[in-house]
Amino acid sequence: LAQSARLYTEEDPVVILSSDSLKQTVLNSSSAWLLQFYSSWCGHCIQYSPTWKALAGDVKDWAQAIQIGVLDCAHEKNFDICKEFGIHFYPTFRYFKAHDTTNDYGKTYRGADRELQTVRQLMVNFLQNHTKHDWPVGCPPLDPARSEVVLSLMGKKTEFYTAVIVEDEDSYIGREVILDLMPYEGLAVKRALSSDKLLMEKLGISSVPSAYLFYPNGTHTVMNVQKRLRFFFSSFLKLLPGVHRKQSTSSLQHPQPGNNGQGTQVEWKEFEKSKVYMADLESGLHYLLRVELATHKTLEGKELKTFKDFVTVVAKLFPGRQSVVKLLETLLEWLVSLPLEKIPYDAILDLVNNKMRISGLYLSEQVQWVGCQGSSVALRGYPCSLWTLFHVLTVQAASRPDALANTGFEDDPLAVLQTMRCYIGTFFGCQECGKHFEEMAQESLNQVKSVDDAVLWLWRKHNQVNARLTGSMSEDPMFPKTQWPTPDLCPTCHEEQEGLHVWNEQMVLAFLRQHYGASNISPKYSS
Ligand code: FAD
Repeated sequence: LAQSARLYTEEDPVVILSSDSLKQTVLNSSSAWLLQFYSSWCGHCIQYSPTWKALAGDVKDWAQAIQIGVLDCAHEKNFDICKEFGIHFYPTFRYFKAHDTTNDYGKTYRGADRELQTVRQLMVNFLQNHTKHDWPVGCPPLDPARSEVVLSLMGKKTEFYTAVIVEDEDSYIGREVILDLMPYEGLAVKRALSSDKLLMEKLGISSVPSAYLFYPNGTHTVMNVQKRLRFFFSSFLKLLPGVHRKQSTSSLQHPQPGNNGQGTQVEWKEFEKSKVYMADLESGLHYLLRVELATHKTLEGKELKTFKDFVTVVAKLFPGRQSVVKLLETLLEWLVSLPLEKIPYDAILDLVNNKMRISGLYLSEQVQWVGCQGSSVALRGYPCSLWTLFHVLTVQAASRPDALANTGFEDDPLAVLQTMRCYIGTFFGCQECGKHFEEMAQESLNQVKSVDDAVLWLWRKHNQVNARLTGSMSEDPMFPKTQWPTPDLCPTCHEEQEGLHVWNEQMVLAFLRQHYGASNISPKYSS
């Protein structure tokens, strides 16, 4: 059991099946299934598991049409079911059609090529083997659209966008983008073939793959993406204004910007997503110091150490306005000069709110979310500002190597991340978040050897959290969780290798240093 638990865990995007759940899950299901029957002692299965996880993550958005599962035949509980399904070798790949009630044991894929891209294309072919009678619920048509259908969209006003991927017959991009956009509303995606000369000519397309976009207002144009790759097309479409992930819960019925969910109007602030806003950082610090920490009557022991370290790192690295930086430095001096082992938090509040104010040091008491504003009060805001703050701090530590001199943190590439880890684990109000973050830190923080590694580590882990939260209750429908930075923000950060999206980490690092650098922090809206 321990071994199988290590091969696939609940954290992975695969569905873990067992003898109790296998039949009821895959038979007569509204989606198709692709399963891997493996054995946790089989060396090849162990080596193959990263590919299977990567595949499952890559096609997570296809779940309404086809899902990925695993079953461990080495688990005693599953001996009988693996025998019943006639599994003799590991891994065995089986696929099950949607709505299949015949109680069969699926079809085996025997191909030697188990590379991610091959299996993904196999999934598409398999989906297309369904007929109109057993077509998976929610799966859009995957066959090419006829030119009349596409051309009839010209100049027509509709309630949604239509994107048409024009491609060669043997290309899979169109179908992959159609499936990628399945959980999104506000648009329809179709594919058309380059052999359709009339269509190519009318749309003015000379090379493929290419995408054409029909806007709700009746206008239309070739879609302008930097690279003609699946990830670029999908990402562009997901980010169109008015396109968002379908919500399954009634509590999240497309709130409108500006409505804070309690009937009061909060003015919507226009902002650029290529900028970081000082208003978010200061609002976050205000909330942290005056609300989150203020729930603690006194600070002592580990809590006091965590607080001191946090104030040290922020005072030395925060690229803020003078009055705020000075306030933090004064707070730090005060903390360092106090020989106390226990500090009542009221004393800190008194210092921050009253004493320092007299000397003109001031941190706004207003919450002004800008880049972190949500479509309702319950969404975004503080946690968004906390991520932003720590990204800014890791970048500052990387660009100003001497900033932490004489603090006890000099030459420590982990200064910011360890401080963040302790803060999140000790004070962050969302305890589950803290637990997850601690697990990630335990797993890989020791691999961070330089200040640049630290910048990238936090980016990677934040994306891991984004992936886990996609489609969850805490996702703001107006700000869907994505792997960040999206291609529109950083085209050179994205590449494709053997059909799998990969990051160019050198470019990501350069981008993070620019995006979270002091000169990209906008003072707009900071009062
Ligand atoms: P956020 O994820 O808060 O991101 C803020 C901004 O950072 C984005 O708008 C974008 O501009 C930028 N950004 C996005 N991704 C990256 C990246 N990879 N690298 C650099 N910048 C990026 N919520 C849960 O429900 N469960 C959890 O387990 C959980 N864990 C959390 C752990 C920590 C340490 C923190 C600070 C928050 C956690 N949250 C968790 C909250 C959650 O991650 C979001 O902060 C919250 O849902 C608000 O999301 P958001 O859309 O504002 O974007």
